Amino acid sequence: MKYALVTGGSRGIGRAVCVALAREGYAVLVNYASNRSAALETVKLVEEAGGSAEIIPFNVAFRREVDEALEKWEDAHPGEYISVLVNNAGIREDNLMIFMQDEQWNKVLETNLFGFFYVTRRVLKNMLTKRNGRIINVTSLSGLTGMAGQTNYSASKAGIIGATRSLAMEVAPRKVTVNCVAPGFIETDMTADINQNDHKGRIPAGRFGQPYEVAAAVAFFASPEASYITGQVLSVNGGLHT
Ligand code: NAP
Repeated sequence: MKYALVTGGSRGIGRAVCVALAREGYAVLVNYASNRSAALETVKLVEEAGGSAEIIPFNVAFRREVDEALEKWEDAHPGEYISVLVNNAGIREDNLMIFMQDEQWNKVLETNLFGFFYVTRRVLKNMLTKRNGRIINVTSLSGLTGMAGQTNYSASKAGIIGATRSLAMEVAPRKVTVNCVAPGFIETDMTADINQNDHKGRIPAGRFGQPYEVAAAVAFFASPEASYITGQVLSVNGGLHT
């Protein structure tokens, strides 16, 4: 059995990634922070697509929760390991820097960037030992270009890009690749408060993207054919590069 862990697999892009990887033959570990019913809905969608999935709740921002949950999973699956890790869990808490609260800054960095570190470090060990692994990190257009009102979010997403490039160099000799997908505006709960009509005009494709369109890029990085591609950032943004 090949296993893929998708953080934040309960909703939005993560849910679509779970279904896409299940179609590629992975047994999927659906992580979530608090929304159990949404995670179970993802499991149902994976099963409807002919795959298998299990839920694995933990808050990526809490190292101890991450370690405990993954240790428990390993104990229950002796000899098995996670060969694909998708670091997708993320939040935004927008504010202008001048008004930004410590709490807003910390929470976004702890979830989006520290979470990537805690989960990746834990899962990487087995990938290196087995000499096989794919790590795909979900960053953002905001981490590439910046976005007013998102200094915390942009810093976290730009941090992920830097870490991806460095880690890719560290682990390439062990046949582990590390890449990013960088979505633009995608229709999910995260963007539900954004009026699409205010932004569609500046997106060359003239519309928001759908989660499955990001999931397809993730599935490509996870595929055997992508074995010589590492340290890259693939934008999925309908042509919106600035
Ligand atoms: P979403 O619909 O709001 O879903 C967020 C997911 O992350 C949920 O499954 C949520 O779990 C999980 N999550 C949040 N905090 C977590 C934590 N501390 N620990 C574990 N899981 C946590 O968001 P989305 O739009 O699909 O975004 C997914 C990723 O794409 C994020 O990294 C986001 O920054 C990035 N992105 C999104 C867009 C966009 O336009 N939507 C654009 C660029 C980048 P619960 O269900 O339990 O809350």
